[in-house]
Amino acid sequence: MIFLKSESEIEKMRESAQLVSRTLAEVAKHIEPGVTTAKLDQIGEEFIKKHNGRPAFKGYGPKGNEFPATLCISINEEVVHGIPSESRVLEEGDIVSIDCGVEKDGFFGDHAYTFAVGECDEETLKLLSTTLESLTKGIEQAVHGNKVGDISNAIQRHCEAEGFGIVRDLVGHGLGKSLHEDPSVPNFGRANRGERLRSGMTLAIEPMVTMGSWKVETQDDGWTVVTADNSIAAHYEHDIVVREGKAEILSTFDYIREITKNRIPVGIHG
Ligand code: MG
Ligand code: MG
Repeated sequence: MIFLKSESEIEKMRESAQLVSRTLAEVAKHIEPGVTTAKLDQIGEEFIKKHNGRPAFKGYGPKGNEFPATLCISINEEVVHGIPSESRVLEEGDIVSIDCGVEKDGFFGDHAYTFAVGECDEETLKLLSTTLESLTKGIEQAVHGNKVGDISNAIQRHCEAEGFGIVRDLVGHGLGKSLHEDPSVPNFGRANRGERLRSGMTLAIEPMVTMGSWKVETQDDGWTVVTADNSIAAHYEHDIVVREGKAEILSTFDYIREITKNRIPVGIHG
């Protein structure tokens, strides 16, 4: 079921989304070769709790195999849902995707960013910038009167034009009083198909893009999704409100940009 949000509900969603944005920036301060993903998770969890939020991913999922951490931290060929660990250490040249969800005042925020760890090669930077650009192109289509397929198609076309793979098995989604609401927002598909977009719909749009094949597998931990061909993958996610004429982005990467401006090449942010 799709829930259209009132302006007061949208304000609460903005609060939640902005807390995710600031959490990602706080974590970004500590992204460098040698840091463990468990350490990054601890920093994220403390920051969320200090700002009166609840980590939304911790305890989420099937009974008996709930996600055990605050952040999903996915390195290189890991696409999404990587579990933070004391034994996972970031290395120079890695890329690391950090996905964060919070609940605050009854509403959820959920967004993600892929960081370069130190210096990365040109092709990797191209993957990051293309994925980020595709998110922008998807958001441009998220206007009243369009259809979900317009978002999907814009993302797919941009990434495939650069020769990258678009993951099919995982998709964006509605967001609000639940972490996942209708509609699903695939990152591939045909324009002018699917659910009609209406003002007040709130969506998490999140392209997952690979350097190779779009096929993915889930590892034995029941969570970590990796590319089937071991190619590296990027993931960016924003929370938006469908509006007349132009979508409004509730989350922001601005705080991250303040932290990373001296460490990531100009142009990477799209
Ligand atoms: Mg997410
Ligand atoms: Mg999401």
